[in-house]
Amino acid sequence: MRRFGVATAKREEFVDITAQVAQALAECGLAEGAVLVYSPHTTAGVTINEGADPDVKRDMLGHLAELVPLAGGRAGFRHAEGNSDAHLKTSLMGPSQLVPVSGGRLQLGTWQKIYLCEFDGPRRRTVLVQTLAGGEGA
Ligand code: ZN
Repeated sequence: MRRFGVATAKREEFVDITAQVAQALAECGLAEGAVLVYSPHTTAGVTINEGADPDVKRDMLGHLAELVPLAGGRAGFRHAEGNSDAHLKTSLMGPSQLVPVSGGRLQLGTWQKIYLCEFDGPRRRTVLVQTLAGGEGA
């Protein structure tokens, strides 16, 4: 398993980690299989979405904030740390993504990027990358 650090700069942001994941994959030398990209945090997740238009990240963060208000909306929050919105958003995004690998390359679509989703930054985050060997060549 490999890991790398990500220094986030805002309370909420999507950080493109595609290059770091590709680098970890290159270091492992896996040709066929998949790579698991995992956030071992409760207030930062991992997702895959469009990387070309920065407005997509902006729209996702804006709508997540509407879905899960900081103050908890009518349901309210009890968690004393005051970051329940971040915990909820992290579970909505999920802690990991599994990306197919063929020919030693991530099989992302043309517009796809892998994002660390920060919801309680700025912080120093860690991302784990585990290659999973298997399958026939494409
Ligand atoms: Zn908390």
